[in-house]
Amino acid sequence: MRNPHAGEPFGTSDEDIALALADLSIPTLMLSLVHMSGDPELIRGRLRPAGLFLNEVQGYMTEEDKAEVRALALPIIARYRDQGCPEPEPVPADLLHEMMTWLVCEDVPAEYVPMLMEEMELDGSDVRKVEPVGDASLRQAFPVVVIGCGQSGLLAGIRLKEAGIPFTIVEKNAGVGGTWWENSYPGARVDVGNHFYCYSFEPSDAWTEFFAQQPELQSYFEAVMTRHGIEEHVRWETEVLGATWDDDSATWSVTTRGPDGGEETLVARAVISAVGQLNRPHTPDIPGQRDFAGPAFHSARWDHTVDLAGKRVAMIGAGASGFQIAPTIAPEVDHLTVFQRTAQWMFPNPNYHEVVGPGVRWALRHLPFYGRWYRFLLFWPSCDKGLEAARVDPDYPDQQRAVSETNELTRQMFTEWITSQVGDDPDLIAKVVPDYPATGKRTLQDNGSWLRTLTRDNVDLVRTGIDHIEADAVVTEDGERHPADVLVYATGFHANRVLWPMDITGRGGIDLRSSWGERPAAYLGITVPGFPNLFCMYGPGTNLAHGGSLIFHSECQMRYITQCLDVLIGEGRRSMEPRQDRYDDWHERSQREMRTLVWSQPSVRHSFFKNAYGEIHVLSPWRLVDYWSWTKELDVGDFEFR
Ligand code: NAP
Repeated sequence: MRNPHAGEPFGTSDEDIALALADLSIPTLMLSLVHMSGDPELIRGRLRPAGLFLNEVQGYMTEEDKAEVRALALPIIARYRDQGCPEPEPVPADLLHEMMTWLVCEDVPAEYVPMLMEEMELDGSDVRKVEPVGDASLRQAFPVVVIGCGQSGLLAGIRLKEAGIPFTIVEKNAGVGGTWWENSYPGARVDVGNHFYCYSFEPSDAWTEFFAQQPELQSYFEAVMTRHGIEEHVRWETEVLGATWDDDSATWSVTTRGPDGGEETLVARAVISAVGQLNRPHTPDIPGQRDFAGPAFHSARWDHTVDLAGKRVAMIGAGASGFQIAPTIAPEVDHLTVFQRTAQWMFPNPNYHEVVGPGVRWALRHLPFYGRWYRFLLFWPSCDKGLEAARVDPDYPDQQRAVSETNELTRQMFTEWITSQVGDDPDLIAKVVPDYPATGKRTLQDNGSWLRTLTRDNVDLVRTGIDHIEADAVVTEDGERHPADVLVYATGFHANRVLWPMDITGRGGIDLRSSWGERPAAYLGITVPGFPNLFCMYGPGTNLAHGGSLIFHSECQMRYITQCLDVLIGEGRRSMEPRQDRYDDWHERSQREMRTLVWSQPSVRHSFFKNAYGEIHVLSPWRLVDYWSWTKELDVGDFEFR
């Protein structure tokens, strides 16, 4: 069978190829040319990318150099076409490493190469898949319940199906996608490039935007679900209320409430929680908010029946969601008042709202490995560099301003980007330049639309605290009334209340919520002592603030979980749970590491990453390459089996 990443054969005319080339990432194209021609000398000459920056996919090549590459590409592609588009010969490992290094203009350390090779799947094999092993009847006797059908729950379903393990996915919504189902607010889009933000084994050449909007993301997950035949395993509009472990039968009883309100119990040998961290909306208690006379709703519960045209809208909160909502609704509303407690750091991404040209889609479909190298080009700059940059230098003098020299340079770059857009408006500059270290909260991607919105005549940015809400206004602490017809809460989620509000009861009747308290933790973010055969995806300590993609993390977690299930089923074990000492050590090391990173700094006063004590338990402080290697192969010595 043809390697799926070798591209579909094509008969495109020279003229149409030339048109397509105008759209492409030229450095990525050059690597595809190496596959097509078998000639590594193509990348050993003068024509090469000059630098690397996240989402700068042309490698800062000059227009002249790009034109030169297009001119030399055309005959190579035409010859390949005329030969019938044969599947290219595999490229030797040392040349692949050379190609990686060439594309990103820096050495890709050897420890990263196996992870990247796996992520790129250049040989067309999906090595994260676990094939069914052992006796089918043993697998059949091992039903699994997956909670949630967002990106991680869907992935769990795909892998369980491949492994021949029976499963039921319980999903509280009426459709697939999780956060991409719920967050339908105007302007919702992903901020990790989509040609990387998709499953490694389900790339898409169909994205219409480089950072797709919510409906397209939801459709992607729907299409993947259909292709893998997962839908028949899902119970929609059914919420898991809780789960209780029974030691005698070594089963979980999972209590659900269906669309008709009826409760049911599902019995499972293992439970996979795939509920995410950002799905329980947080709405602050503000005096008088119940007196508000008009429509009021949270960004993740957008009321599409409310017509905002000509209305005065008050938006409370402006993090990642508000940052996308304001530019989208501002042109249609009469007036928009944005109440922002903390200014946000943002960095330039000119591609943020760009459409994917037809040439790119053609190349992704037809040019050998173009999509794979493009994925790598998006992944690499966000792979662990952000973590190095987030490290605190305790000797750096002004920790309120920056946590290290690198962080100071980042601050200067981001500040310049912000101030260059605001012009000479000192009042606005004072409001929009953050007063805490750069990257201390989740940094936002920007193409200028946010600040452009704030300079509109019908938009006000209010940084004064809210005192109370009245029937038709938000009143700030300075006594000013801000009239409003509609109230939007873009105030985030209960990210620290992991698995809340489900009641999870483990061995000996221990309650997960009370045993965690304010400090949720799981070994590798996946398993918890006292809760046998319970596996978390996107569990505590696995959210990413430094780069990568949650889909990458999910793929790591699910490979690990399928290995756990393999041992449980294959070796006829009743249950497994992590050893207390391994768990304690993991948590202690993770916390120690977290304290060395910018997100933990006291200078970052408000952050949804932090718990009531200012500690961070939801984020990963680890390099992606470490997490990948720790979850690649299960170490049974980390567990107690029964
Ligand atoms: P968020 O980033 O937590 O922002 C919440 C906003 O509400 C902040 O401005 C926050 O102010 C404010 N707020 C919260 N409680 C408040 C209170 N009591 N008084 C006044 N203001 C209050 O939430 P989000 O914007 O929904 O984003 C959450 C996460 O979802 C993001 O970090 C990201 O991981 C994800 N997300 C991703 C995308 C994307 O991929 N493009 C888009 C949207 C969301 P402070 O900053 O002062 O706390």
